[in-house]
Amino acid sequence: MTQHLDICIRGGGIVGHALALLLARDRLRIGLYAPAAPASTEPDVRVYALNAKSKALLESVRCWPDAAHATEVTAMRVLGDEGGEVNFSAASLAVPALTWIVDVPALEAQLREAVRFQPHIELIDAPRPATLTVVCEGRASTTRAEFGVDFTATRYPQHAIAARLTCEKPHGQVARQWFKGDNILAFLPVDGAQGQAIGIVWSAPDARTPELLALNEEAFCDQVEALSEGCLGKLQLASPRKAWALQSAQASRWIGASHGQSWALAGDAAHNVHPLAGQGLNLGLGDVAELAEVVHTRAYWRPVNDIKLLRRYERARRAEVTTTDAAMTALQQLFSKEGNGWQKLRNLGMKGFELSGMTKHWVARQAMGL
Ligand SMILES: Cc1cc2nc3c(=O)[nH]c(=O)nc-3n(C[C@H](O)[C@H](O)[C@H](O)COP(=O)(O)OP(=O)(O)OC[C@H]3O[C@@H](n4cnc5c(N)ncnc54)[C@H](O)[C@@H]3O)c2cc1C
Repeated sequence: MTQHLDICIRGGGIVGHALALLLARDRLRIGLYAPAAPASTEPDVRVYALNAKSKALLESVRCWPDAAHATEVTAMRVLGDEGGEVNFSAASLAVPALTWIVDVPALEAQLREAVRFQPHIELIDAPRPATLTVVCEGRASTTRAEFGVDFTATRYPQHAIAARLTCEKPHGQVARQWFKGDNILAFLPVDGAQGQAIGIVWSAPDARTPELLALNEEAFCDQVEALSEGCLGKLQLASPRKAWALQSAQASRWIGASHGQSWALAGDAAHNVHPLAGQGLNLGLGDVAELAEVVHTRAYWRPVNDIKLLRRYERARRAEVTTTDAAMTALQQLFSKEGNGWQKLRNLGMKGFELSGMTKHWVARQAMGL
C-alpha cells in the first residue's frame, strides 16, 4: 500500500532537491517527483553565482561542492560604457568571499546523491496526493497552469548566451562584468583559485543572438575578447554555447488550494528575474529556506498546509522577489538606453556609487544575502 505523503514536491531541479532535503530533517514524509531529463551528449555549460546565504543552506544539507567546483570570488569589477567603474572586494567588506561560482552539474550530482540516502524522501514515479504539494518545476511549469495561476512574463529584448571558456591568464578569483549599451557580459571564474577558465553569461540583443551562436569558435571568442578588452588574454571555447530568452515574471498567486489539494510555488515556477546580478537561484533557495522555516517552527497542532503558514511564506518571499526584480529591470533598462546623455548619466552614476561608501557597502551586503 502506498504511504500517505505529507509533502509532494514536483520538479527535481536544485530548488526541489534542496527543499526535499531540508523538510526531511523534520521527519516529514516527502515524495519527490523528479523525472530524469532526456540524456544529452553535450556537456552542461551552467555555472551559478551563489551567495553566502545559499552556501549556508546547501552546507546545512551537506551538498556544498568542493573548492574546485565552488570557486571563491574575492573581487568584482563592474565596468560601464564610458569609463564608469564599480569595484568590490571581499577584504574591504571583511568577508571570506563576495560570492562563489558553482559548477551546476557537480552541485546537482551532490543533491541527487544526498536524496538517495535520506530515508524520509521517496523518489516517486508520478505525482501523488499529499497534504501539501510544492511546485518547483521551473519557469515552464505545467502544474502551475493546472492550478489556474497566471504567470505574466515581460520579455527583455535579450537572450543570455552561456558557455565555458579557457583563458590565457589566470582569473585571479575576480568576477568581471561589462555593461556596454544593450550588451551585458559577465566573466565568472571557475576551476578553483588558480583556475584559467571562466563561465560567461552574455546578455545580447535578441536580433544579434542567432549571429553570435552561428559564429565559428574563433570568431565568437574574438567578439568576447573585444567586449572584455582582452583582460584575460586569448580565450578559447571549452563548451557549446547555450541561449535562453530572458524575462521578468511572477506568479499571480504563490499558494492556494485546488482540486482538494493545498499547494505552494517555489523557485523559477514562482518568479523569473534577469540574470545580470546572478540572483535567480539565490531567490529560489530563499524560498526553500522560508518554506522550511515556517513548516519547522509551526505549532504542533498546525498541519503543513495551514493557510496561515502558507500566507506567511508568500508574504515574506514576494517582498524580496519584487524588490530584486525591480532593481534588475531598472539596471537593464538604464544600460540599454541609447544616446549620449544616458551614457554620461549612467557612467556618472557608477562613479558616484563607487565613492558612496556606506551605500555601496549596504548594496554589496544585500547581494551577498547577509
Ligand atoms: C543564463 C542564466 C544564468 C543564470 N545565472 C544565475 C546565477 O549566476 N545565480 C543564480 O542564483 N541564478 C542564476 N540563474 C537563474 C537559475 O538558473 C534559476 O533561478 C534556477 O535554475 C531555478 O531553479 P528551479 O529548481 O526553480 O528550476 P529549474 O532549474 O528550471 O528546475 C525545474 C525542474 O523541474 C522539472 N520539471 C519541469 N516540468 C515538470 C513537471 N511538469 N513535472 C515534474 N518536473 C518538471 C525540470 O525538468 C527541472 O528539472 C541563471 C539563469 C540563466 C538563464
